[in-house]
Amino acid sequence: MITELREVMMNTPEINESEPLLLIHDLHVWYELRRFGFGHAGYVKAVDGVNFDMDEGETIAVVGESGCGKSSLMKTILGLNIPTSGEVIFDGENLSKLNNKGLRRYRFKVGYVQQDPYGALPPFMNVQKILEEPTLSGGQQQRVVIARAMLREPKLIVADEPVSMLDASVRVEVLKLMHALQESHGLSVIYITHDLSTVKYFSRRIFVMYAGNLIEKAETRRLLDNPLHPYTHALLAATSDPDAHNADTFKEVPPGEPPSLVNPPTGCRFHPRCPHFMAGLCDVEFPPDFEPEPGHFVACWLYDPSRRAERSSVEAQLQ
Ligand code: SF4
Repeated sequence: MITELREVMMNTPEINESEPLLLIHDLHVWYELRRFGFGHAGYVKAVDGVNFDMDEGETIAVVGESGCGKSSLMKTILGLNIPTSGEVIFDGENLSKLNNKGLRRYRFKVGYVQQDPYGALPPFMNVQKILEEPTLSGGQQQRVVIARAMLREPKLIVADEPVSMLDASVRVEVLKLMHALQESHGLSVIYITHDLSTVKYFSRRIFVMYAGNLIEKAETRRLLDNPLHPYTHALLAATSDPDAHNADTFKEVPPGEPPSLVNPPTGCRFHPRCPHFMAGLCDVEFPPDFEPEPGHFVACWLYDPSRRAERSSVEAQLQ
């Protein structure tokens, strides 16, 4: 394990600071496991080789099931986790090179909207003092949390499941408010969610995360209209509509369990759950990102240009 960690750290190349607002390069966030509090017992590989960049004013959704590593990715972007290896470069500054003062300055530029609006507001403070409102519903509380995140005039907001604890009837309203703020202030937003149905309200691109990796990346419309990765298909099949009239329909989650992040499956991490698994390949070799259409990246062997026959057969099954 230690050798594995050392290899990952040594293979992290130097990169130039560049133009995007946020650049994530080969990011690994591993947590050490300790047996009975002391002996080394392995690593939880919560984020394991993530790459992307985002422009100023752009909105991105990171979608995946619980335990896929999206919260660890979010905490790293917020400057709360220290990367094991890789780069997080924001506004031209490399986070791992900032001292405490620099990190404090950085946190002013990044706002945070958390999942639980009830816990986000100080219980000892009369809400009237915050926004002169005597009592607030969940939707109103989340609006206060969003307003508070905006107070420091951040360049980037990280919104962690901002509507998952709200009634279906107010989810769309809160998402539309975030969208309006994003547009009027030219904000960049990273929207973390398990629910693909809500991302269409403001994300320009969607990244699908599975077992510590981004397995599909594309513009929102393109990904929703033409999902490529078998896991994205399963997620879409499990999606309910945030519209109040359609929200209570029961939808099946993708079959099987998300894998252990301590000993993830070899090869493609989705292979134990994948209906299109190709023995001898998918369980052996980790799929790189293929780009079957411009700007649409997918880490799945079906999109290897040399495997057109297998892909045509899967496409026929899906129709
Ligand atoms: Fe399925 Fe293989 Fe593609 Fe993984 S690489 S999603 S196992 S077909």
